[in-house]
Amino acid sequence: MKDLLIMKFGGTSVGSAERIRAAAAISAEQRQKRPTAIVVSAMSKVTDLLLEALRRAEAGDKPGLESDIEKLRARHVETCHELLPAGVREPVLAEVHKLIGEFERIANGIYMLGEAPPRSTDEAVAIGERLSVLLLAAYLQHTGTRAVAVNAASIIVTDAVFGNATPLMEPTREKARAKLLPLLEEGVLPVVTGFNGATADGRPTTLGRGGSDFSAAILASVLDATELWIWTDVDGIMTADPRLVPDCAVLEEVTYREAAELAYNGAKVLHPRTLAPLMEKQIPVWSKNSFAPEKPGTKIVPRIEASCGARAVTSLSNVALISIEPANSVINGTEVMGRALEGLGRANIEVLAVSSSSYRQSFCFLVRDRELPAAIESLETTLALELAHGYLKPLDVDDNVGLLAVVGEGMRGTPGLAGRIFTAISREQVNIIAIAQGSSELTIAVVVRRDGLEKAVRAVHAESRMGEHARRSRGAEYGGSH
Ligand code: ASP
Ligand code: MG
Repeated sequence: MKDLLIMKFGGTSVGSAERIRAAAAISAEQRQKRPTAIVVSAMSKVTDLLLEALRRAEAGDKPGLESDIEKLRARHVETCHELLPAGVREPVLAEVHKLIGEFERIANGIYMLGEAPPRSTDEAVAIGERLSVLLLAAYLQHTGTRAVAVNAASIIVTDAVFGNATPLMEPTREKARAKLLPLLEEGVLPVVTGFNGATADGRPTTLGRGGSDFSAAILASVLDATELWIWTDVDGIMTADPRLVPDCAVLEEVTYREAAELAYNGAKVLHPRTLAPLMEKQIPVWSKNSFAPEKPGTKIVPRIEASCGARAVTSLSNVALISIEPANSVINGTEVMGRALEGLGRANIEVLAVSSSSYRQSFCFLVRDRELPAAIESLETTLALELAHGYLKPLDVDDNVGLLAVVGEGMRGTPGLAGRIFTAISREQVNIIAIAQGSSELTIAVVVRRDGLEKAVRAVHAESRMGEHARRSRGAEYGGSH
């Protein structure tokens, strides 16, 4: 299919009747120009609400569960009333109630069991997307755009890792093409649920929190789309978090690798797994603001000709550092490190950075706070003997740290850059605890005390003049986001 556009609308871009109208207008406009399919998140905060409801069900908190379901119902029923006039809305409302009934049925099952099986959780949370897709598709139809709601469980085939599934691209390609191409050829706009899929034998799965970006990328790849546009509530990919650095600027272009590093290291703009399916086919991605669709946004591309130095800085504050230190020199530190990493890998824990020193063979890992208990458990099991017999000192955990990551393709082979970054941080009297730089030289990761994190981010942004560079390359016609 020629010139196919995939667009994805995040939760805030469909967060109210007004936002759904705006998303519909953008979709209808593009549909006039070329074949278009859209992927939609649940209305903002709905996934959180659904997960809270399930937690309450599991904990036996019936009144809490009921009040969450009431909130869910009220939000969607009200939105439906605001979007559609009487006479049109009734069948849509009936669908809303049916989907919420489905959620209720699963939640009640969990309440009775006192336990939430992962696959039931996945089936239940995907209802947030099925609801938003239902409303947006109905509104599009009502306003004269031929649209159909599509549940991605019928087109995205995944493995069975519930809660964080990985797509199987070949079967997904077959199913997605069989289902969506005929619609697109007829001029219909498919409105597809983000976030969810199903195993080959039909068990519902989800792709991880924030996974709708990933859904859109998967579809763009298997349908050989010409472009992917991701609509959010910010102007694009920025040189820093605007809440920390007021004079940050929107980057005109970033490479796939830069965008992936930024996402991975805390930039909220894209789900970290989004770019992988697009890289191979070099499908360009735009990150755009549905609240200001006239702004150009950021283009994510395979490469950038003249890229200069450090381009953006991100940070993560909900992280913890685990250090492992041999108690004597009898122990083979490399072997211990290997086993520790293997244990963490088996427990599905994401290691954000590793740093080690050769003499004492001590080493440390950075993990997310929420994965800390599982990480410690895994390390204590894997290294039980060494810990019990005093070959290793007790695990040292410091959760009062933060990670700062400086990203830029142009940092490669630029001597002095790391030095300037460290100097800028130390000028703020912020102590550096650990450092990691991959051999790609694309990212320098620095672990600091958490109370120094924001200062360090501002210092690095100013020292590398990231805002100025971004504004200059964008040219005089567009001065960033402020
Ligand atoms: N609704 C899901 C979440 O909040 C997926 C998404 O919004 O991308 O995680
Ligand atoms: Mg999102």
